[in-house]
Amino acid sequence: MTEPYRTVTTFPVMGTVATLVVPGDVDELTTASVVRTLRSLERRVTVNGPDRSQSQVEAVNLAAGRDTVRLDPEVFRLVSIAVLASRRHRGSFNALIGPVVKAWSIGFAEARVPTDSELGPLLALTDPDDVDLDVEGSRVGLRRAGMRLDLGAIAKGFAAQRAAEAYRERGIERALIDLGGNVVAMGASDAADDGFWRVGIQSPFGPRGDLVATLRLRDAAAVTSGVYERFLVSEGRRYHHMIDPLTGQPFATDLAAVTAVAEDATDADLWATVAQRGGLGTATAQVEAERGIEAIFVTHDREVTATSGVRDRLTVAAG
Ligand code: AMP
Ligand code: MG
Repeated sequence: MTEPYRTVTTFPVMGTVATLVVPGDVDELTTASVVRTLRSLERRVTVNGPDRSQSQVEAVNLAAGRDTVRLDPEVFRLVSIAVLASRRHRGSFNALIGPVVKAWSIGFAEARVPTDSELGPLLALTDPDDVDLDVEGSRVGLRRAGMRLDLGAIAKGFAAQRAAEAYRERGIERALIDLGGNVVAMGASDAADDGFWRVGIQSPFGPRGDLVATLRLRDAAAVTSGVYERFLVSEGRRYHHMIDPLTGQPFATDLAAVTAVAEDATDADLWATVAQRGGLGTATAQVEAERGIEAIFVTHDREVTATSGVRDRLTVAAG
């Protein structure tokens, strides 16, 4: 097949680069509406960077120990998903990890290794049971001063899913949405007879574009998280950005990267973090036991493995 004609839109958002690919022509209003959907979500959920004045999640953080805050339904939905998942996945995913993430500040100029005596009191402020979710009033409150929500491990997946919905609302049924490794493959691809989109899985060891495998995807999402993405080097040791909520230290793992596959990108993003804990054996068993979730694992030893439901859609690169 020759390279088909597509509309490609690329722009920075949520600390990464979004790439939107749609077969054929897309009218500008549709593209603008999808871009707006992503930018508006970013503005309302960001907890990093200088522009937090319009962030509803930061408003919840600033009101910790004092007040509840009313959220837009969309933001409330994201926060609820994150808090409920944190209650379920204690010890792997915890969106209340904010104070600990802030202490490390990995990926930012002020990054440093916090001491154990610093981390102790901060860990006490990460209990997902200390969150009030008022569904009727669309309000969220953190019970203790110093608590902080951090939706970094789920917001981009949620946003990618919202972008897909925004396309669908405007009659676009086929698109490949990529928010820095948070991929939604919507409808049939125009580039292959089988209708599957080809999604490259980035090598944790090589430069960008260096792939360990290619995944065939259709009406599904794939999200990759890796310890190689952001890290701090201090006194010869490497500390990555995914933190074990029980210890406050970066996850100790033999996994360099996890790609989680699910129907919904929010679930995939969540599981790309959940499956970081415990290493290859534990994570494989956990994902196999979870309905609707599949995963591809890349270990530090460069071994590439996949769970049973996705294995036949994966082509591992040679070498
Ligand atoms: P991701 O980009 O999906 O790999 O998520 C990484 C981001 O999630 C980090 O930069 C932190 O902001 C946040 N985070 C780190 N550790 C955890 C954790 N155990 N549970 C939830 N969020 C986390
Ligand atoms: Mg994630």
